[in-house]
Amino acid sequence: MLTHILGFPSIGKNRELKQALESFWKGELSDETLISKSDDLKKRHWDIQKNAGLDYVVTGDFSLYDRMHDLTFAIGAIPLRFAPLADGGILERYFAMARGDAKRNVAAMEMTKWFDTNYHYIAPEIDGAAQWTPSKRPIVDDTRFARSLGFNPKPALIGPFTYLALAKDGGDKYSKLDSLAEFYVDLIKELSNISDLIQIEEPILCAELLPNEAAERFGEIYAALNAAADKTKLALTTYFGSLGRNLDLAAQSNCALLHIDLFRGEAQFDEILASLPNETSLSLGLVNGRNIWKTDYAKALKLIEKAVLKLGANRVALGSSCSLAHSPVDLNEENALPKSVKDRMAFAAQKCAEIAELRDIFERGDKAALAANQAVFENAAKEADIYNVSVRERAAKVTPDMLERKSPYAKRREAQKTLNLPLLPTTTIGSFPQTAAIRKVRLTYKKGEISEAEYVAAIKRETKDCVDKQERLGLDVFAHGESERNDMVEYFGQQLGGFCFTQNGWVQSYGSRCVKPPVIYGDVYRKAPMTINWITYAQSLTKKPMKGMLTGPITILCWSFVREDLGRSEVCKQIALAIRDEVLDLEKAGVKIIQIDEAALREGMPLKAIDAQIYLKWATDSFRLASSGVKNETQIHTHMCYSEFNSILEWIAKMDADVVSIESSRSKMSLLDAFEKREYQNEVGPGVYDIHSPRVPSTGEIAELIRKALRYIPKDRLWINPDCGLKTRGWDEAYQSLENMVAAAKQTREELSANR
Ligand code: GLN
Ligand code: ZN
Repeated sequence: MLTHILGFPSIGKNRELKQALESFWKGELSDETLISKSDDLKKRHWDIQKNAGLDYVVTGDFSLYDRMHDLTFAIGAIPLRFAPLADGGILERYFAMARGDAKRNVAAMEMTKWFDTNYHYIAPEIDGAAQWTPSKRPIVDDTRFARSLGFNPKPALIGPFTYLALAKDGGDKYSKLDSLAEFYVDLIKELSNISDLIQIEEPILCAELLPNEAAERFGEIYAALNAAADKTKLALTTYFGSLGRNLDLAAQSNCALLHIDLFRGEAQFDEILASLPNETSLSLGLVNGRNIWKTDYAKALKLIEKAVLKLGANRVALGSSCSLAHSPVDLNEENALPKSVKDRMAFAAQKCAEIAELRDIFERGDKAALAANQAVFENAAKEADIYNVSVRERAAKVTPDMLERKSPYAKRREAQKTLNLPLLPTTTIGSFPQTAAIRKVRLTYKKGEISEAEYVAAIKRETKDCVDKQERLGLDVFAHGESERNDMVEYFGQQLGGFCFTQNGWVQSYGSRCVKPPVIYGDVYRKAPMTINWITYAQSLTKKPMKGMLTGPITILCWSFVREDLGRSEVCKQIALAIRDEVLDLEKAGVKIIQIDEAALREGMPLKAIDAQIYLKWATDSFRLASSGVKNETQIHTHMCYSEFNSILEWIAKMDADVVSIESSRSKMSLLDAFEKREYQNEVGPGVYDIHSPRVPSTGEIAELIRKALRYIPKDRLWINPDCGLKTRGWDEAYQSLENMVAAAKQTREELSANR
């Protein structure tokens, strides 16, 4: 049985790539050094795969920035605005497209989330008329390089249909299918001289159906690619779900191998086994590439047996569900995890070994390896912090009325008039600039270099400064500034039961940026109040209402590595109950406005519409469970930082927050259209300026956006706030921007009263 993974993380077990890239961008590394450092990483990752006992090592999975971007560059789909950079070096242009060129004032290409992961790719910009000038194809060099070192390489390419489906569209992107197919034919011809298996990834087949103009060309274009491959096999590779109705298309491709994601797409396994064309082999994606947990071998072996029974062992391959790029690199770097949790974990390097081990167990009946694996799962089930009886009982007792506020919005609105807010109330999203000084305070406290008393005093000083500034600015609703928080999820995870943290479990988010998600390994509960002291202290400094500031259950779930022995919706419910306790304690402490951020609601959505509906139901129920315990007088806010709302607006309405703040300045308020059409009843704070840029917006332009918002949202339901938190900005620009924002709100209020 053939064994392989779909890709290995590029970043390196100690984030070597990050360090190399950042020194390169600072001008401290030459092109050659960057390339040689990358080659070292590639070699190391190939060694891991080979030493694990896999049949192939992957090439083309390594990227200096992003694989979609590598393709764009190789195809030569260079947007016109980068033409002035043509005389520079290749790397200079490659990075300028990904990151923008400040000197020449050329904007970067857009970055978007890769399906439902937290990884961001650079979206190709396709203009049907533009001429493509093909450039270097590092995947060919890398595959030769791997071969020359004695590895058996399997080049991995993102497929043409996925590439185009994810590209930004000038309206005619599918007109490029033929030119794109030509590029792939050429490339495959060349790769087929070096390798006997080529991975072509079409995760788009696990999303919704392809548009007709693409779907009707699928069989024909894949016929051309297969012809180009000649005796080399193409592996049509799908992941992030089942194929659903795209199974027909996949079969039409006539590729020698079809790879399916059995971690997320198991429901379709029988159907696939029954309908797989005789000439096609099946690669089973058994080891989850998106998490940190060991594979349950007993379960995986059942699936292997089923496939072998139906197809014969020579038509079955074993692999990872998707690329391992979404999991951290090496568990052996972890020295501080609780032993019982570490025993259950596998990072990318360990996952390679799991795949080979599954093959060995299946082929040679290695009983000891199976028993060792099963013992881990059995032991875990017995542990009290993994199965916490009181948490389970409480979750089981949640009743539908706990998801409902005491009265509908119209009635709450009356009750909340006691807040005495002016028309067009001004506020911020929560965090204020996180200065180097404040980061240092948190770090030295974490290292034990300053006492708790010193730490608390420093945070209090910062909070007071932040409140004083808001007072001077004349904002209407205050936030305490979040200076005690390094990260909106980690801060809560550190205080909740059921969470632990890795030291080095980094996963690439985009370019050189990595995230280190908390780990939810057991039942989640609140040990003690988490935010009350900071908020009540901040409230004591002002007469203006101070918002309680919490991260919502969906966002905590989506930005963590989540246990796999309990359904995500159940885990989310447990988090919701913990947040609910905090909300009620805030209310008891006299906090009148509570914001529960749900920045990740949209990115957690599964790819297919039916799955998305199921997710949105339990996700929004969790938000309601967290937020609905309060009195009518208590105002619940939520915040989301993205702008494509149209498809989920009805669900945002169902969350029934009194006020929702959203990103909208970059889309110039055009999304408010949807709010108007669906008659969204509650209050809305469309962001009036973009916090992602250091630019200070003028009072005039903010006032203009407010006037525009007023065309969609009635004046007594409109809030004025920035797009998101200010923690990445400097104080100078943040202060001036807020000053202008408050001035613009005042100006608009005056216009409104003059027009009455
Ligand atoms: N309250 C958080 C902040 O202001 C919200 C951040 C976010 O939405 N990503 O930082
Ligand atoms: Zn935000």
